[in-house]
Amino acid sequence: MKPPAGIYHIVGRGQTLYRIAKTYNVDIQEIIRVNKITDPTQIGVGRQLFIPGVKAPLPVEAYRPISQEAVEKLVGPKYRSSCWRYITLHHSATLEGNAECFDKNHRSRRMGGFFYHFVIGNGTFSGDGEIEVGWRWRKQQEVNRPSDIQICLVGNFNKETVSSVQLDALVKLISVLRKQYGIPLRKIRKHKDIADKFTECPGNNFPFYKFLTELKKN
Ligand SMILES: [Zn+2]
Repeated sequence: MKPPAGIYHIVGRGQTLYRIAKTYNVDIQEIIRVNKITDPTQIGVGRQLFIPGVKAPLPVEAYRPISQEAVEKLVGPKYRSSCWRYITLHHSATLEGNAECFDKNHRSRRMGGFFYHFVIGNGTFSGDGEIEVGWRWRKQQEVNRPSDIQICLVGNFNKETVSSVQLDALVKLISVLRKQYGIPLRKIRKHKDIADKFTECPGNNFPFYKFLTELKKN
C-alpha cells in the first residue's frame, strides 16, 4: 500500500511555523518549500498548510510566554569572575533564523563564530520568544567590545515589528542580567547608537522606548 502523501493542517491562533514543524516532526524547510511560503513569520490563522508524509492532523500547542524562573535558569547563576557592564541590542535583519544558523553564517564569514550571547526567536526556526543561549555566554567570552552583552532578536525590524512575546522575553532576559551584574538602564543601547560604521540595527521599528518602559516596571 502506498503511504499517504500528507495532510492539511489549519493554522490556529498562536501557532508558529516552528511549533507546527516540531509537532509533526517534519523539516521546516520542506514545509516552507511545498507551501511556497515567502515570509515564515506571516503564516496567518486559518491558512491550510500541506504537511508532507503525515497521516493525521495533530493539535499544535500555541506559544506561551516564558516565565521569569525559566529565564533565570537559562542565564545561569552569576559568574563571579565576569564583569558585564553594557548590553547591546541587535536584530538579525533576516526574516527567519536561530542561533545555529547565525553561528554557521558567522563562521563562514570568518567572524570566529556566533557573534551574540543570546538570540530571541520569532517562531520561524526557533519558538516565538524562545531564548537561546550562545556558547560565548557559557564560556563568558566577550564578542568585540569589552564587558558588553550582545542580544539578537530574530527578524528584520526595518520591515516587521517585534512580536509581543519576543519583547516580553527580551524584557525578562535583561531584567535577570541587570539584577546579576548591576547594569544601569543607560548602559543598554541599540547597536546603531555605538556602531563605528553605518547601521540601522536593530531596525527602525524596534520599540526602544516601549522596551525601556516595560523594563522599568519589571
Ligand atoms: Zn547589530
